[in-house]
Amino acid sequence: MIDLERRSIVYLPGVGPKKAELLEKEIGVRSYADLLSFYPYKYIDRSRFYKISEIEGNMPYIQLKGRFQYFETVGEGRSKRLIGKFTDGTGVIDLVWFKGGNYILEKYKPGADFIVFGKPVAFGRVYNIPHPDIDPMSSIEQVASGLTPYYSTTEKMKKAFLNSRAIQNLVYTILNSLTDELADSLPEYLLKRVGMVSFKEAMYQIHFPDSTEKLRNAQTRLKFEELFYIQLNMLQTAGQRKLRIKGLVFSHVGSYFNTFYSDYLPFELTGAQKRVVREIRTDMGSGRQMNRLLQGDVGSGKTLVALLSMLLALDNGYQACMMAPTEILATQHFATVAGFLKDMDVKVALLTGSTRKKERERLLAQIAEGEIQILIGTHALIEDTVVFSSLGLAIIDEQHRFGVEQRSRLWKKNKQIPHVLVMTATPIPRTLAMTLYGDLDVSVIDELPPGRKPIKTVHRYDTNKKQLYDFLRKEIELGRQVYVVFPLIEGSEKLDYKDLEEGYEVFKDVFPEFTVSMVHGRMKAADKEAEMKRFISGEAHILLATTVIEVGVNVPNASVMVIESAERFGLSQLHQLRGRVGRGAEQSYCVLVSSYKLSNDTRKRLEIMVNSNDGFEIAEADLRLRGHGDLEGTRQSGEGIDLKIADLAADGQLLQYARDMAQMILAEDPDLTEERNLVLNQKLKKLFSNKINWGMIS
Ligand code: ADP
Ligand code: MG
Repeated sequence: MIDLERRSIVYLPGVGPKKAELLEKEIGVRSYADLLSFYPYKYIDRSRFYKISEIEGNMPYIQLKGRFQYFETVGEGRSKRLIGKFTDGTGVIDLVWFKGGNYILEKYKPGADFIVFGKPVAFGRVYNIPHPDIDPMSSIEQVASGLTPYYSTTEKMKKAFLNSRAIQNLVYTILNSLTDELADSLPEYLLKRVGMVSFKEAMYQIHFPDSTEKLRNAQTRLKFEELFYIQLNMLQTAGQRKLRIKGLVFSHVGSYFNTFYSDYLPFELTGAQKRVVREIRTDMGSGRQMNRLLQGDVGSGKTLVALLSMLLALDNGYQACMMAPTEILATQHFATVAGFLKDMDVKVALLTGSTRKKERERLLAQIAEGEIQILIGTHALIEDTVVFSSLGLAIIDEQHRFGVEQRSRLWKKNKQIPHVLVMTATPIPRTLAMTLYGDLDVSVIDELPPGRKPIKTVHRYDTNKKQLYDFLRKEIELGRQVYVVFPLIEGSEKLDYKDLEEGYEVFKDVFPEFTVSMVHGRMKAADKEAEMKRFISGEAHILLATTVIEVGVNVPNASVMVIESAERFGLSQLHQLRGRVGRGAEQSYCVLVSSYKLSNDTRKRLEIMVNSNDGFEIAEADLRLRGHGDLEGTRQSGEGIDLKIADLAADGQLLQYARDMAQMILAEDPDLTEERNLVLNQKLKKLFSNKINWGMIS
């Protein structure tokens, strides 16, 4: 029997070393199994044939039946192309190739019947079809329902004749050569219980659907399996971890916490903050190791919750640390925490990549001796040189930027795994949270501190800047400050910096009476800090920045956020940016400036921003608009969620179902050792063997 995962596609008839290399490079397909799970991204109904005489402007992909009259080569150099005159008796249309001419001439002889599939393009009143798919008439039987699958391919692949049709043929070859290899990866009793088709059936139907209904059943089955195994893995390891890892017991609420709470807390906690602090207290006192995700919209006051939690660790004789994704943020957290604690006897320190060598050595020694009680910093915290004397609580801010791997490195910072609190200001839709962080307990701050007025958001076109400048002037004269953010997109940084720098000149010009400062990622840390400080202190009225100010920065007096080229930002990023204002008591504004030409999706994005201030609502909309693969944060997390077929935006119910089933199975057989669950056990090991084993870390 062939091991589908091990069997290289080099051995597949029609592949060979060159194509194999291309398949691996371009679409990551290496083994038979990879190819079988390289699912079509769309299906097109090819049951209807069009007549050439019916062709008109703006048609989708269509299908023609007919024969070639003759071929000719026209044009010179780059516009050189091969044209095939194709007719079905109702008219003649040009089929055009800019590449691969010889191959075409050899393969498609005039006179024989072919099926042509492609998108007609108008040249004046004449139509042609560039690079169509062509099949001999006889091949139509292969796809009985007329539902033709489409596989994504790249330009390089197409040049090597690995187009969608070629991929389907390869899949066909594999499926035809297999017998017992398509064993089911879900146990029979489970399949029965959920009423889904077998793996084998699903494989055939997903690649060669007999009908729309059968295709849907196949998709459901494969989606279910994908989601089910993620949940099974997560729930099983979380369960094992709870059993195996003893948590540090913070039984004591002592003078650090109490003194701060009664003497130095500058305001009353919101109801939500109180509830969350209680949840954390209970968790850390329970004897279990805490792994908690704290979600709270921007400005909801997570930092204070973090601080109170750290004081609890101190009360129980432990150190605490807090890690932030950027230097600016870490610095700001440090300033906030040190500020809150300035009249208490607590030693707080900051460690980042730019901490000087001498200072660093001193800090490292103090951390190791336990002299430093609260350590705040960037990734620098997880370096091996940082050794705590007794770390009891690790807090990670803006969680989605750190991956599981980094989280786990923090865990190892103490002999006994510390409690872990991860905080995120990007509300995560429920389905995504279940998939990415289904192993964490979740707390939510769903209430903003009192006195905040909802931010007014408007959308303006960049053709009317004068109106915008007048508005800004009025606000600044009222004593407020203004952020102006420019996009920074990977790959076009040069242009972006040019935009920012030009903007800087314009603003200095338009507002000679005000002070304008500017920060961006390319500045030296010291300059950046100086510019930031000018704004934080109120000396600068306007701060121009790239997205470096995206997360966490807190200047309550800033009440206007202008986002330039707003069409280039994602929804959650826009929401994050907007969250930089609305922190004081005055009315705040967010102005989304875009060009006039917008795609439908972009227009929708901006509309959602104008209509909603609710981070969860926005996150859901983002998931729907962009799909989970693109969601900010999931990419950066470094682990991502590699879903081949399930769609978190659309398959929420199926996900819940998969989780319920996983829970049910684990409740009866936590270690999956029963005979009937052996399949699950083996598949889990195979799927997740290269991932960190949570349960074993201590
Ligand atoms: P985020 O959740 O975005 O990290 P922060 O912790 O930065 O929010 O808090 C935003 C602002 O709200 C800060 O200026 C903070 O001091 C203030 N704040 C936090 N909690 C309260 C509260 N209960 N009452 C009033 N202001 C608060
Ligand atoms: Mg914050």
